[in-house]
Amino acid sequence: MTLPEPSAKEPLLPAAEPHPKDLALPAAEPHPKDLALPALRERFASQGWPRYRADQWAAWVYGRGVEGYEAMTDWPVALRSELAERWPLEVLAVSGVQLSSDGTRKARLRTADGHEIESVWIPEAGRTTLCVSTQVGCPLACSFCATGAMGFRRNLRTSEIVDQVCRMRALAGADAALSNVVFMGMGEPLLNRGAVEEAVRLLIDPKAFGLAPRRVTVSTAGVVPQIEPLLEAVPVSLAVSLHAARDAVRDVLVPLNRRFPLDALLGTLRRCERITRRRPVFFEYTLIAGVNDSPEDSRELAARVRGLPCKLNLIPMNAHADSPHRPPAESVMDRFMAELVGAGLTVTLRRNRGADIDAACGQLAARDAA
Ligand code: SAH
Repeated sequence: MTLPEPSAKEPLLPAAEPHPKDLALPAAEPHPKDLALPALRERFASQGWPRYRADQWAAWVYGRGVEGYEAMTDWPVALRSELAERWPLEVLAVSGVQLSSDGTRKARLRTADGHEIESVWIPEAGRTTLCVSTQVGCPLACSFCATGAMGFRRNLRTSEIVDQVCRMRALAGADAALSNVVFMGMGEPLLNRGAVEEAVRLLIDPKAFGLAPRRVTVSTAGVVPQIEPLLEAVPVSLAVSLHAARDAVRDVLVPLNRRFPLDALLGTLRRCERITRRRPVFFEYTLIAGVNDSPEDSRELAARVRGLPCKLNLIPMNAHADSPHRPPAESVMDRFMAELVGAGLTVTLRRNRGADIDAACGQLAARDAA
């Protein structure tokens, strides 16, 4: 096994307060897409408009997916033009779209202050999944991830997360029946928990997007102190990017592990069973040739998660220019998987969607315009 030396740079700690770089965020008044329904009703009331207009707004924009106020035909024309002026429906501008041969669609979306993020729309038999970003870049610098290589710019606002859903649904057009949302795009959702939770509330509110809560999945590299608060606040599915079952290996792949090692992470997940009532945790394990794919690795992994309700997703490393890592040979992956299945675990080997357009896991890295 050849691993680079851990860098001396300390991983960033989870920000309880807004990250200092958030100060760069223009202090605009909240957009309606920043607010879950209760706050949106208050917002309408404070303008002197009836609260039920907020419900109508959400039904039009999130439920029916209208893209302009002119479509809101049950509203007075004066109110429509006032709102169109004040709260334009598009928060993000589409600056590029790529369509994969497998139907996966990746879009590059631009924020009002000129940053670029990416979202990925993944149609499959029986379900359609959208993968959203939560930060511009990412501070965690996992050694195999393209987003990590671009560094961190700022957290996204709730409206910038929610508008990814609106933009991507509009691009997909007629076949736009969205069933699942995964917070697995650029960034670490649990370093932006407030905005992520508010976005989740809109996704699962029957008066907004109305998705089934279990079909909304938040993925974390292991920001341990934020896991329980997230699960207390919103009934989402949790995914954890594990990638190694030994601290010595995980310290290098996921530098955050030096702050929150495996014992702390897995201990917290076991404690969370009380909240999740034994709903499985989804572990992601990116298989990297010569790094975390040995028979000892699979045995250690099985031992570590024993007794914890979980499903394991093995992801062959998606190669990209910013990392020297490569996926293992098929035979190595098959053996790794067989070992885990033999140990009684539920395991899937994830098919890479959208790899021809750099839309697969870990390949999102919109170059910044700001
Ligand atoms: N920061 C969160 C959300 C990102 S999810 C998290 O780490 O969970 C994106 C998933 O793709 C993570 O599991 C990540 O570890 C994985 N990934 C990153 N780079 C990859 C690569 N090059 N090949 C395969 N998977 C990768």
